[in-house]
Amino acid sequence: AKKQGKDQVAVFEPAMRESFQKHLELEADLRRAVLRHEFELRFQPIVRLRTEEISGLEALVRWQHPERGMIPPLEFIPLAEETGLIVPIGEWVLREACRQAARWNAQRDGQTPLTVSVNLSAVQLERADLPQLVEAALADSGLPAKCLIIELTESLLVDHRPETLRRLEEIKALGVRLAIDDFGTGYSSLAYLRNFPVDIIKIDKSFVDDIGDMPAAAALTLGIIQLGQALQLSTVAEGIEDAGQLSELAGGNCELGQGYYFAEPLTAAALDNLLFPPRE
Ligand code: C2E
Ligand code: CA
Ligand code: CA
Ligand code: CA
Repeated sequence: AKKQGKDQVAVFEPAMRESFQKHLELEADLRRAVLRHEFELRFQPIVRLRTEEISGLEALVRWQHPERGMIPPLEFIPLAEETGLIVPIGEWVLREACRQAARWNAQRDGQTPLTVSVNLSAVQLERADLPQLVEAALADSGLPAKCLIIELTESLLVDHRPETLRRLEEIKALGVRLAIDDFGTGYSSLAYLRNFPVDIIKIDKSFVDDIGDMPAAAALTLGIIQLGQALQLSTVAEGIEDAGQLSELAGGNCELGQGYYFAEPLTAAALDNLLFPPRE
């Protein structure tokens, strides 16, 4: 057995083997899942804080595993990234999100079109054909480029390669907007705001969580909103769970928000009912 510390002999070998085994199983399952289309999307409303009107939707992937049930993204996205399977999964997410948004917008004829936000991982940005993929997803769905928002994490922008910036510029040239996800959690949040063609800042849930009981969190949140305004970026607060957080954020002029207070991520069918309530 492996030695751990001075005199402690760890007994975790069988457990490690088991976890390795599980990992391999999950990888095989994930490969199958791609072939069998076991993924589903949920859509979480993003609302205008002043009016509480729905302005757009964030597409969030789920894996409907045949034996294990619904697997949340944090349990398979890292593995999908490691194995490269995020490429076909991410392509499906992008196409499906555009398709659904185009359908809802067609049905909402006359109203301001909804935006749809899609999360992209760094592995997808390493692909030279990403801009063409985005263009094809828009063309095939009929969704106008201005309705699509691509969400990127800070870490992706911090360790970026030179081609990444070029690819993002190409995607922006289509008319698609870029958002920085989980803003404030990275190490050099400010430097890249200058270098990247970003349109939207998403304030991380950890700030919103503490806004009511930690003056420092409230001050930082208001500071981020003001930074966004100064740079003419939209701000979206993530993870709003109560009315107190909403009033604090709306009072600070945060433009948009999402969270369980408004709605959880919903199935397409549930969203149909929300957007087009059946008449009684
Ligand atoms: P994220 O992009 O930061 O997405 C927000 C997460 O917060 C979602 O978790 C959402 O369900 C959750 N959330 C929203 N409002 C609230 C709230 O009021 N309270 C709490 N406690 N949570 C809230 P989810 O769906 O489990 O997704 C987790 C992460 O997985 C996402 O974080 C994103 O980084 C990643 N992810 C999801 N879908 C995709 C995808 O299609 N592609 C990639 N690359 N990553 C994805
Ligand atoms: Ca996101
Ligand atoms: Ca986020
Ligand atoms: Ca987050």
